[in-house]
Amino acid sequence: MSKTIIVSNRLPVRITENDGEYVMSPSEGGLATGLGSIYRDGQNVWIGWPGMEVTEEKDQQRIQQQLAEMNLLPVYLSQEEINNYYEGFSNETLWPVFHYMAVYAKYEQPYWDSYYKVTEKFRDIILSVAEPDDIIWIHDYQLLLLPGMIRAVIPDISIGFFLHIPFPSFELFRLIPWRAELLEGMLGADLLGFHTFDDSRHFINAVTRILPINASANVMMVNDRAVMAETFPMGIDYDKYASLSKEKEVKDQLRELKETFQGMRMILSIDRLDYSKGILQRLQAFELFLQLYPEYMEKVVLYMIIVPSRDNVQQYRDLRDEIDKLVGGINARFRTNNWHPIHYFYRSFPIETLSALYNFADVGLVTPMRDGMNLVSKEYVASRNQNNGVLILSEMAGASRELIDAIIVNPNNIGAITRAIEEALVMPEPEQYRRMKQMRQVVAKFNIAHWVKLFMDRLQEVKQIQQSML
Ligand code: UDP
Repeated sequence: MSKTIIVSNRLPVRITENDGEYVMSPSEGGLATGLGSIYRDGQNVWIGWPGMEVTEEKDQQRIQQQLAEMNLLPVYLSQEEINNYYEGFSNETLWPVFHYMAVYAKYEQPYWDSYYKVTEKFRDIILSVAEPDDIIWIHDYQLLLLPGMIRAVIPDISIGFFLHIPFPSFELFRLIPWRAELLEGMLGADLLGFHTFDDSRHFINAVTRILPINASANVMMVNDRAVMAETFPMGIDYDKYASLSKEKEVKDQLRELKETFQGMRMILSIDRLDYSKGILQRLQAFELFLQLYPEYMEKVVLYMIIVPSRDNVQQYRDLRDEIDKLVGGINARFRTNNWHPIHYFYRSFPIETLSALYNFADVGLVTPMRDGMNLVSKEYVASRNQNNGVLILSEMAGASRELIDAIIVNPNNIGAITRAIEEALVMPEPEQYRRMKQMRQVVAKFNIAHWVKLFMDRLQEVKQIQQSML
């Protein structure tokens, strides 16, 4: 019996230490939910970093045993590896280049060396459990080299790879000193999945221009093996978001919001702290909105949640300081005795709070400079059971290819965001319903389970096509 091996940088688990005992709780991210039915089944397994440094061997063994009960297999990383492979090459080289912010990118040899070595660690752990007829599904930009390293040892194994962030245009990608090695690593997969058609096209373009490899449509011949690059826009657990509002906790919080913001319209903005999210431009647009439409004073609030992220990187700390300043400035400028325009939180919230906010907010304002997909926009849509509310969405988010009934804006165009806010606030209800219903249909149908099935089915087909070509 063949098994399926899922591989990602992080395992879908949170480990906490309590009086020398380790407590494991499954994490509830979208990917973990979607892949849950796979990795929990039979001999299947999910391999990744458990999210903390464990130095003592006996602790490593203990954690490994506990994780095995959840079908999880850990790859332990030292602090130095976390610094160089994860925070270094993954987040300070690949992340900025792939999000079109190449000026932030660092090209450091030690980062690359560590990225390579950590991938070998992942490879060795995979090889300790993999059999030639297994299926391996590798996720995201931290593991671009892994498909190639596994292929080199087990030439016939099935490997799928999915990139959760954008794949940039060739002109950006070519900046990376190790561009050829990265592409060769990715091409170890049989099927490469991307969120949008443009991402797949950019990848194929980079391959044919950088490597001596030809492509015919989406098929690349790599040592007589047909490798395919295709588009699989990731979805969310629609039913979960659509039904959360029935829970008591969510109802209670919704009631509180209604009391607190009585007679007020709410614009909701939720992101991780990241320069790719367009947070400063969004704030500028809101400031301009208050200036141009003073009739909304005391009648509208921007509820802004920023989830702390990567705050040991200087650019992220700087961004946080700038946001603090801008929010402070706008609130100081426009506030009245009983109202301030921006409610700003720098922390994360449980899903019940997010659900109550998604339910309450009149407008979802999502304006990233670049985003592979953007799940917040889909969660807002899935939560709108009354079919009202308006989504304003950046054309640079992968989600904008599917959620075409949002008000689509260029996130660099502050004036356009300002006008979109006004348009959203005056949009007649029938038009809100029409747009929201269309979007809800899309999010309901192309949900996370659908995405997992499409990818896995296609990987099997690709393997069959390869065999028929022999
Ligand atoms: N999120 C969360 N807690 C919060 C705010 C957001 O867990 O306090 C979740 C949100 O529900 C969404 C994810 O974080 O599922 C963000 O995903 P997205 O694709 O929008 O952006 P990313 O952070 O992956 O770039």
